[in-house]
Amino acid sequence: MKNKSPLSQIYLDANATTPVLPQAAEAALNSMKVLFGNPSSSHITGLKAKDLMEQTRINAKKVIGADTGKVIFTSGATEGIQTAIISALVEAKKQIEADKLSATPPCYSLLYGATEHKAVPESLKHWNKILGINAEIKAIPVDTLGNLDKQFIAKEAPNALMICTMAVNNETGVFQDLAELDKVIRSANNDIFWMVDCVQALGKTSLNLANTTIDYAPFSGHKLYAPKGIGFVYIRQSAPFTPIIAGGGQESGLRSGTENLPGMAAINVIFEMLLNQQDSAFADIDILRGYQAQLVDTLRAVFPEVVFNHNFENSVPTTLNFAIAGFSSKEIMDLFDAANIRVSSGSACSSKVTRSFVLDAMGLPAWQSESAIRMSFGPAMTQAQVDEACARITSAAKALTHSCMILDSGEINEKQPLDGLVQLRSGSNCTWVYADQQSKQAFIIDPLPEINDRLDTLLQCQQLELVAIIDTHGHADHQSGRTFLADKHLPTQQTDALGWPQDCQQFSQLQYINIGKQWLVKVATPGHTDDSMSLLLCNPFDNEQDISQQCQFAFCGDTILMGSLGRTNFDSSSAASMFLSLKKLHSLIGDQTLICASHDYNNEFTTHLSAECARNLLLANTLNGSLNLTQFKVQKAQLDSHLCDQSGSEIMCGALTESQLTGQPIVEYNHQSLNDALQQENVTLIDIREPHEYALQHTEDSSENVPLTRLVQFIQQQQTQKHHKWVLVCRSGSRSLVAAQAMYRLGFDNVAHLKGGYALSS
Ligand code: PLP
Repeated sequence: MKNKSPLSQIYLDANATTPVLPQAAEAALNSMKVLFGNPSSSHITGLKAKDLMEQTRINAKKVIGADTGKVIFTSGATEGIQTAIISALVEAKKQIEADKLSATPPCYSLLYGATEHKAVPESLKHWNKILGINAEIKAIPVDTLGNLDKQFIAKEAPNALMICTMAVNNETGVFQDLAELDKVIRSANNDIFWMVDCVQALGKTSLNLANTTIDYAPFSGHKLYAPKGIGFVYIRQSAPFTPIIAGGGQESGLRSGTENLPGMAAINVIFEMLLNQQDSAFADIDILRGYQAQLVDTLRAVFPEVVFNHNFENSVPTTLNFAIAGFSSKEIMDLFDAANIRVSSGSACSSKVTRSFVLDAMGLPAWQSESAIRMSFGPAMTQAQVDEACARITSAAKALTHSCMILDSGEINEKQPLDGLVQLRSGSNCTWVYADQQSKQAFIIDPLPEINDRLDTLLQCQQLELVAIIDTHGHADHQSGRTFLADKHLPTQQTDALGWPQDCQQFSQLQYINIGKQWLVKVATPGHTDDSMSLLLCNPFDNEQDISQQCQFAFCGDTILMGSLGRTNFDSSSAASMFLSLKKLHSLIGDQTLICASHDYNNEFTTHLSAECARNLLLANTLNGSLNLTQFKVQKAQLDSHLCDQSGSEIMCGALTESQLTGQPIVEYNHQSLNDALQQENVTLIDIREPHEYALQHTEDSSENVPLTRLVQFIQQQQTQKHHKWVLVCRSGSRSLVAAQAMYRLGFDNVAHLKGGYALSS
């Protein structure tokens, strides 16, 4: 499978790594083929290699403005950081040993900037322990602009053995004023060892280490168009040094092991470009500022809600860190990836909410930290690439109108009409939106306040008439977003405290409201809380016995959770009421009615009684009558007693049963086997990315688009197709896997997915 119209990649993640410049790659190749000698050999081939190495060292010193001191080649900055820390701490240890003899030995500390790359604090912790230094490790706070707290340094430096700061931050591009830091540090402590991580500074800001008292400065080649595996560390002439690799005595005995000559040949080309701007591939700082301004203007134009997480005055032009209100970093990453723009999120993504410790340290609001996106480029960026990036960002933003995630400035959104159920999530909490395309009516269940704007946009964009907005119960773990939307869309509607409209219909004992041709039926299901209710979406029925066949979805709140039952140990809970509520639900809904809970702790999307009873004995035995009320209460209390083990910082509304955590065995295709299967079998390919991603980059295969947010609707519609071969695909293979597992659990026994996703297809 190939991309339909493969767009060339726009790479805006230079702070993570860069491609190797062709000229540097050529030099590396030449050193492998021609200049391949061992610099330690005394024959001509070796001497040539040595000459290249020394030339590179001279250039390295010129580039960083160091006339004295040592430059040692390393595998990268992490090694340089170890070298610096070990060298400083081994020397400091001598002082500590001497101090032990005094009556009151001082309490020493090690200082590092709170926004430092993890390599720094982790190495400090590691070597502090291994070398038995046992100093207190302290983070130097930063202000909202990311500047280090000088007062803190002045206060703490006198008792510190080492201070580690960074020249330019890798997430925000914020630079520190090294001259000012120098003054503060040295007036507090002339002997403290000072390391400055210069990784992100090289090529982006001028360095003049000779004018500073910096003792150690690590650098990395792969952040500036040289290959991975080459870096160097500068060591001030007067700074102590302890080799961390002993052996054949290479690098004057300072770092043994045969040198990485191809890496040096490549990085030397980069140095020459930095030193000779006129025939360099690198743009000067004013041009880079211009590129930055163009990207900023584009982002502001297409995402009016964008907020930049740093100030441009104290950051390098090549890094932009921003958040877009209403969008998680994962959503923006997926969107940009579909537009073939590579950016990175503030921190690694997982199913849990992620945040950036750098932005947290700067004291930025939580949402900015959770939604942070980093866009970074290097000095080899060209005007044509910036223009293309801006055009792609614009079309990516436009594609969001397909999913009704933003409103088009024009009257009509280029949207996909919504028909059926949508599941929107924030963390593990779920909001359910149901739209009836024909009548243009909609209802919302359990609205989460953090997605209020998204819900509002969706209603407007789809031109839907909201008929009800209901909470299944008073939530203990989060606020409801109901009032905001009700005030705006249903200002005159009279409801009960949870939003159930007073103006409803009655059938026998049941109350219901109309949504298109269907009924939304209210059923009181106390237990988890005394106000808990379930809402059943059903086709109209003539007598109560028919309900179970007519009900497609049951919004049960926290009564039945996937793999669990809602907890009944709140003040307003009652296990006895839950026992009765479960039986009542059982009499009203079918075995295959899809249960839509207000939490999804384990990415399972939905469930039904038949699947739940297969793994939840407590539920099964309650429903089949083999458990009486007293036994239920005992077993339910036992289940709830596991809650504390699982909750972490989140209030869990139900404990997971053990079988919850066993994954489903999903058949995995690779591209070749999928292509073969598509030709031979009756296979339906389902692209489960969101409509905006699908619109930007759908492939030349014949996939249908079933966004993950509409998977539950799809499962409902395909109940009669459970043995059909469905193959799910997405960007990286992770969404397709969880979706396939959810379907498999509900009886879709022939579901498979494409391992690695479209990412591995081109
Ligand atoms: N320091 C900073 C600021 C960085 O950005 C990185 C890389 O992400 C490192 C250190 C580690 O560099 P390397 O990958 O060369 O070990």
